[in-house]
Amino acid sequence: MSELESDACLFCKIVKRQIPGKIAFEDDRALAFYDINPKAPVHILIVPKQHIASLSDMKEEDRDMIGHLHYLAATLAKEQQIVEPGFRTVINTGLGAGQTVFHLHLHLLGGRPFTWPPG
Ligand code: AMP
Ligand code: ZN
Repeated sequence: MSELESDACLFCKIVKRQIPGKIAFEDDRALAFYDINPKAPVHILIVPKQHIASLSDMKEEDRDMIGHLHYLAATLAKEQQIVEPGFRTVINTGLGAGQTVFHLHLHLLGGRPFTWPPG
């Protein structure tokens, strides 16, 4: 498996338009698309175009890109008008935390109340 992309990776396939995704935003480093099984009225996944399996696989050179994912989350939250009363960003890392797709993704969730702690 290449470190940059994986032929078997679902989100790499969406990035490469090999399978469809409902795209919310794209730039040179990242893609944002609507979650196929939304857990809130607004549920967008923000992914690096580069294949990184999980947050625990990030390298020092990925720091700026992962900051960029969060910047996009804040920007999209404004566009989606979910800043008030609040929105949630989540990165599940590892099977025990509920990660099911092993291409790093930031969940942006909004449009309903959220409880704490999460399940
Ligand atoms: P996680 O459980 O944190 O790994 O999140 C994976 C997310 O990807 C889940 O919320 C799924 O609903 C979502 N998902 C799986 N397949 C697709 C797809 N083809 N297009 C959009 N979202 C997807
Ligand atoms: Zn991938």
